[in-house]
Amino acid sequence: MDISFILNDLNDAQRDAVTAEDTHALILAGAGSGKTRVLVHRIAWLTQVMGFSPYNVLAVTFTNKASNEMRGRIESLIGQQAGGLTMGTFHGIAYRILRQHYQEVGLPQSFQILDSDDQKRVIKRLLKAMELDENQWPHKQIQAFINGEKEEGRRPHHIDIGHNPFVGKMVQVYKAYEELCQRSGLVDFAELLLRAHELWLKHPQVLAHYQARYKHILVDEFQDTNSLQYAWLRVLAGGSGKLFVVGDDDQSIYGWRGAKVENIRQFDEDFANVKMVKLEQNYRSTGTILKAANELIANNSTRMGKQLWSAGEEGDAIKVYEAFNEYDEARYVCTQIEAWCEQSGARSDAAVLYRSNAQSRVMEQALMQAQIPYRVYGGLRFYDRAEIKDVLSYLRLLVNREDDAAFERAYNHPPRGIGQKTADSIREVAKHNQIPLWQAAKQLVEQGLTARAKTSVANFLALIDNMAKEVEDLSLEDQMIKVVAQSGLQQHFEKDSSEQGQGRLENIDELINAAGQFKMTQSQETVEGMASEAQVVVEGVDSQAQQDGTLLQKPEYDNPLADFLAQAALEAGEQQADEWESSVQLMTIHAAKGLEFPLVFMIGVEEGMFPSQRSQDDPLGLEEERRLAYVGVTRAEKQLMITFANRRRLHGTEIYPTPSRFIKELPQDCIDFVRLSGSVQPTMSGLSESSVKTALADDNQTGFEIGERVFHQKFGDGMVMGVEGSGEHARVQINFTHAGSKWLVMAYANLEKKG
Ligand code: ATP
Ligand code: MG
Repeated sequence: MDISFILNDLNDAQRDAVTAEDTHALILAGAGSGKTRVLVHRIAWLTQVMGFSPYNVLAVTFTNKASNEMRGRIESLIGQQAGGLTMGTFHGIAYRILRQHYQEVGLPQSFQILDSDDQKRVIKRLLKAMELDENQWPHKQIQAFINGEKEEGRRPHHIDIGHNPFVGKMVQVYKAYEELCQRSGLVDFAELLLRAHELWLKHPQVLAHYQARYKHILVDEFQDTNSLQYAWLRVLAGGSGKLFVVGDDDQSIYGWRGAKVENIRQFDEDFANVKMVKLEQNYRSTGTILKAANELIANNSTRMGKQLWSAGEEGDAIKVYEAFNEYDEARYVCTQIEAWCEQSGARSDAAVLYRSNAQSRVMEQALMQAQIPYRVYGGLRFYDRAEIKDVLSYLRLLVNREDDAAFERAYNHPPRGIGQKTADSIREVAKHNQIPLWQAAKQLVEQGLTARAKTSVANFLALIDNMAKEVEDLSLEDQMIKVVAQSGLQQHFEKDSSEQGQGRLENIDELINAAGQFKMTQSQETVEGMASEAQVVVEGVDSQAQQDGTLLQKPEYDNPLADFLAQAALEAGEQQADEWESSVQLMTIHAAKGLEFPLVFMIGVEEGMFPSQRSQDDPLGLEEERRLAYVGVTRAEKQLMITFANRRRLHGTEIYPTPSRFIKELPQDCIDFVRLSGSVQPTMSGLSESSVKTALADDNQTGFEIGERVFHQKFGDGMVMGVEGSGEHARVQINFTHAGSKWLVMAYANLEKKG
């Protein structure tokens, strides 16, 4: 058999990893060294050469987007067969398994995923019901506590309260929260994993089935697995399964969410006969970018240590731009993108990365003004938008009446005369009798409401019940259309003729489209694959499972709506990978993990912003920020541009940040320092004067020189302080005697020279 298609495009070390024996393997290597590529080729090797069925392979990625990309790459290597693979994120895979085994884990068949926004709402409501003061018990802190404990695999009764009344109260809330979720059939993200883990521990026969099935488990971005995920993997691979994990300790950036980079070190101890492979050649970035990345990360002390080299060209220097303020910074990025496109670069090649989501707003504004199409990746996510959640809440109620979060959202939206007081009594009855809001509402309709309230509530309950009946046999798309209309939401939004209202309707249309296109691709395949193999197990070995009948029959569960809703919750934040065609991509550095772009901007690289304020006094936190900077730098293939501003508005006040220490840690000979003008004192005290260039002034096409005196109709006398851009984009900065410093567009400025 010709296997050259699997091995041809690999170097020796990569080949060594791909062709490893039937054993555990740890591939530890720096950014852009081909870890993900090795993982993909390993799957091809396992199925094409070693003879494993795709059903025996489980591949775990960090995001849904990464998973889709990986599927595409595997399909191009092994074609149709890739269909049988199980691929997805930890959460996605756990969801599918829980769907299969909802009975064993004690969930209702129609359980729903609670995303973090819903979780927040549920907790807030709970705090109110428990009469806890929000100031003393901030919901954010409680949410973090609950998720943190779950990620460590701890239920309330596992937590040692000691004599600490604070922890005691937290645990009490955690417990109440758990009860509420259980009652409403709601499962938050951390719960997906925890239940799946408990499924392994409590149901050996289920575990045995999956252990027998997944002979090979491959994990990308292993450095960012948390304790629970790693425990889950360990148990799953516990029998004879082989783990193939790839990672980079220098790119561990989710410590704040419980990820444990120590898992890499632990791996070698937990498993026998681990094959270790190091990859050292980088294929992604220019020599300059790589050198900068290497020197930057060398400042961290907690490293396993490795170097990367590149056979590629040295490439251009990294441009560091000192901006006047955030608007100037954003404009600079726009000019650079325009210049890139003028030199026949594609817009979609450019990514603007930032430390926190809030930084995108000014950048978005500037891009809009410059008419440069862009997409925000992971910002206000499609499925997070209010109107989408509104529609989804009705759909969720159709699937599961006991979904309290959905009930809360839908009962009086659009307004249907169910007032605050009525709602409070529904909540009261629910709390008192420990029943879902739906049932409480029903009880109250039968007794105990005023006539008017009674009619409103009864109408709402009837509306949901009737809709559920009417949509039963419709396609997913038609279900959606019907619900949007009958719920009254469509009418409600149509009343709002503003730009925003229109946007809402467009989003709802997009949701209907999504329903039309929704096919149960991955989970359907998995379900079928699981069932067909399951039969074999039932006939053969596992008589226990056969007896209790719970385990492995072909699932009868077939509810595309429930799956669509789950998908919506899972994919929030990872929208529209394919629609990007030709738009600039905006995202946080966290979201850029694993990706690569020819042109990368890192903006707002200032002390207090990046590294973040919070991390400054904490050495470990600071090192995580530096790893994040390393991730950012190593996303760039050809050109990297870093910007910082001397002035910025933050939380309503004007601040004067200093450039980030990370800029100073880059090798000076790799940097081209771009400033507005020669007369501004460099604030980069650590930088050598020779690297300070007024590069923009070098190819000055404005017809004005720095230092030249000019006159403006409105602003009067001034002096040219900076020039940049060419053609219609050319701008000059003038320091006016009376009007201060201003940037003017040459085409409109109408400046006179004053010789
Ligand atoms: P990260 O740490 O950022 O996730 P990675 O180690 O997973 O990076 P890949 O994304 O797999 O790296 O590879 C980086 C780039 O180098 C990709 O464009 C990939 O196609 C390319 N590449 C990897 N190995 C080779 C090779 N042997 N020959 C040519 N190109 C390669
Ligand atoms: Mg990768």
